Amino acid sequence: QSSRIDGLGTTIFARMSALAAATGAVNLGQGFPDSDGPDVVREAAVEALRGGANQYAPGVGVPVLREAVAEHQRRWYGLDVDPDTEVVVTTGATEAIAAAVLGIVEPGDEVIVLEPYYDSYVAVLQMAGAVRRPVTLRAPDFRLPLDELRAAVTPRTTAILLNTPHNPTGTVLTADELAAVAQVAREHDLVVISDEVYEHLTFDVPHVPIATLPGMWERTLTISSGGKTFSFTGWKVGWASGPAALVASVLGAKQFLTFTSGSPLQPAVAAALRLDDDYFADFRAGMRERRDRLCAGLADVGLGVVVPDGTYFASTDIRPLGFEDGLDFCLRLPELAGVVAVPHQVFHDPDTPLEDNPGRPYVRWAFCKRADVIDEAVRRLGSLR
Ligand code: PMP
Ligand code: GLN
Repeated sequence: QSSRIDGLGTTIFARMSALAAATGAVNLGQGFPDSDGPDVVREAAVEALRGGANQYAPGVGVPVLREAVAEHQRRWYGLDVDPDTEVVVTTGATEAIAAAVLGIVEPGDEVIVLEPYYDSYVAVLQMAGAVRRPVTLRAPDFRLPLDELRAAVTPRTTAILLNTPHNPTGTVLTADELAAVAQVAREHDLVVISDEVYEHLTFDVPHVPIATLPGMWERTLTISSGGKTFSFTGWKVGWASGPAALVASVLGAKQFLTFTSGSPLQPAVAAALRLDDDYFADFRAGMRERRDRLCAGLADVGLGVVVPDGTYFASTDIRPLGFEDGLDFCLRLPELAGVVAVPHQVFHDPDTPLEDNPGRPYVRWAFCKRADVIDEAVRRLGSLR
């Protein structure tokens, strides 16, 4: 195998879901909902399939979806996006992130990344020959350390890979934190690649795209996908929006990664983006209820819970129950309690020695599950007390 994928191993999500399947454990590991999104959206996909939208879509995405993305950015954030030149449809946010890095970052460039990070960031930066500059959100509050952010910039830095709401910590960057990131980006002329897949999952504070800050639209690629917001993670329809030059760079890479993305699902995601405000409000409220349900249950069990402001993941410190190492804990958890979760330590920099890994005693639990599934997981975890 090539050095581009050396050390990347198998993603933690595949490993943990396989463990759940093999052991019959309740899977609060990989983040996917156990109920599908709205029927009307599914029907829109069926209609598109039956209606013959089954050949290659345009590389940039079908017009109706690009228009829906532009409308969505205007409706929720007041951003003025040209659907013809400032949106590109991708195969999930994963491809948007990969194509953005490949299309924008030079080999040897340094990219600032908020650590712990979603695992594809490390992989794609490595494949692109870029250098990671982690800035760590530290437990227990997982806030962005602004001095460390400023200190991470070097003459070789060309981009910041941002993620808010943040996986795995659940942090939603505050106005002050976003302003600091924006200031760094403007001062050092950096591009911001902003992963906002959990944009509609904030519970206590609003989600603010960094592209809405002064001087930021022209240097920001905003990335999202239909997977989280509409509970169709298997559809893998994502997009990037931003100034035409950055979008063209994403498309430049995308055309040779996948060429185009699945055509019948694109009009369906367009219909989803146009759902009325009630859908988005109910989605958020339902997930907030589940957050509170799971967090209360995990606290009852005796874990040290960090209640997330956003995403559908809660984090806990496992030390109150006498455990030290999250990976070891998660590998034993199916046997100990019949539950699967994901350790934070795998989202930390792979070059950090284990004893220095700040994520070691933290574990992430997904609450995008039915209430009875959450209750059953909590009941089982009671055996750890
Ligand atoms: N970024 C983050 C932070 C995520 O949690 C996910 C979810 N898997 C993705 C990107 C990828 O999204 P998609 O499934 O649309 O590729
Ligand atoms: N985003 C989800 C998570 O963090 C699932 C990602 C995946 O399976 N690659 O769990």
